[in-house]
Amino acid sequence: MSYIQEVRAAVAARNEGQPEFMQAVDEVLTTIKPVVESDAVYKNNAILERITEPDRQIMFRVPWTDDNGNMRVNRGYRVQFNNAIGPYKGGLRLHPSVNLSIIKFLGFEQIFKNSLTGLPIGGGKGGSDFDPKGKSEREIREFCQSFMTELSRHIGADTDVPAGDIGVGGREIGYMFGQYKRIKNLYEGVLTGKGLPYGGSLARTEATGYGLVYIVQNMLEAILSNGFKGKTVAISGSGNVAIYAAQKATELGGKIVTMSDSNGWVYDGNGINLDVVKDIKEVKRGRIKEYAERVKTAEYHDSGKVWQVKCDIALPCATQNELDINDAKTLIKNGVVAVGEGANMPSTTEAINAFQAAHVLFMPAKAANAGGVAVSALEMSQNSQRLSWTFEEVDNKLKGIMLDIFNKTASAAKLYATPADYVAGANIAGFLKVANAMIAQGV
Ligand code: NDP
Repeated sequence: MSYIQEVRAAVAARNEGQPEFMQAVDEVLTTIKPVVESDAVYKNNAILERITEPDRQIMFRVPWTDDNGNMRVNRGYRVQFNNAIGPYKGGLRLHPSVNLSIIKFLGFEQIFKNSLTGLPIGGGKGGSDFDPKGKSEREIREFCQSFMTELSRHIGADTDVPAGDIGVGGREIGYMFGQYKRIKNLYEGVLTGKGLPYGGSLARTEATGYGLVYIVQNMLEAILSNGFKGKTVAISGSGNVAIYAAQKATELGGKIVTMSDSNGWVYDGNGINLDVVKDIKEVKRGRIKEYAERVKTAEYHDSGKVWQVKCDIALPCATQNELDINDAKTLIKNGVVAVGEGANMPSTTEAINAFQAAHVLFMPAKAANAGGVAVSALEMSQNSQRLSWTFEEVDNKLKGIMLDIFNKTASAAKLYATPADYVAGANIAGFLKVANAMIAQGV
């Protein structure tokens, strides 16, 4: 058995019943093989055994009361995966599907993604199986405060700096920040994605979606000498990442024809009107179905997926494993030229293999959605310096970071794998920096 196979078997045995975590580990182990096998230093320092085992996994009870006075209990998580290159950094997800496997897959991915940004941030992730949908403002506030009451023991501006993810936006970060401050009596940049009046960074809200479009544009320019201009774009999701990816892709001349939520999806052949989407999703916290009630050119579908629509570029921006092999085959048949992952691990392994075999340009999540955490790291810098940069300053830094990620990913792919195998490129470039830091620091 090779070193990689031995580690893979040991990780699988130790993490039974964690399919999402194993999917993420398998993808990384498979693609970093040429690097790991090129130098015994990785095996001699047990780098793969160490990088696949979190520094610590914290699970805790989150009690709260609902509006009828009933006591309710959810489970909270924070997985601090790796801090070789900086404080743990990664979002908090509030969704009923959250479990240890999902938080660990997200935390593991975050190690390599954060490394790719070139900024000093380690990998972590957290959240809870609390479902924010249908909860009152008071219930959300009480949950966030209770969650932070325990989480506050484990985080800090130089230790672990959480941010938002599915179900956690500016409102939730605000309640959590307030509770942290009250408990610790410390005004520090312990969370990112904060509101602008209390330490938030301009362009953080837009960063993940904008960054996704910047890197896909970089890829299209490098390989096909074109960009979003004149392209039809299918987007899934209608949350933070989807909305700002749609906004930037439209600005660059693309036409967005789909958006979705967990109940269904809309098609608008005229191009999605984002003012309507923002009003429904950001202001009224409503469902995407209402788009088709308000925009006459749109159709609503409560079955099937956005991937059945003919498009040039597909940007999955909802959740893990939302694009499977059948969706990939449909997209390929319909002539898709590029796929950029806004969500974390939205494509199944079989779907990625199909895209690569069909020579569809494929930019994986670790590179494609790193803009969010990159601007979170810029928010940390601004907090430390007690400064606020302008929107243009942050946006320009984000553009530079995404281009740098593209170049690093493309060079690593060329050097160690196949040119344009950006999955291998991103994993290898991300891995090397962290592995070398771990070796330098000893056990
Ligand atoms: P939001 O909560 O703002 O939006 C999530 C969107 O995805 C909603 O439209 C939601 O629909 C849909 N969705 C969520 N879960 C499911 C599901 N199980 N099935 C179908 N649709 C679903 O989250 P974000 O936009 O922040 O996050 C989207 C993705 O991007 C996630 O994978 C996240 O990890 C990733 N990401 C986010 C970053 C950020 O900065 N926010 C940074 C990097 C990655 P509904 O409202 O019906 O639940």
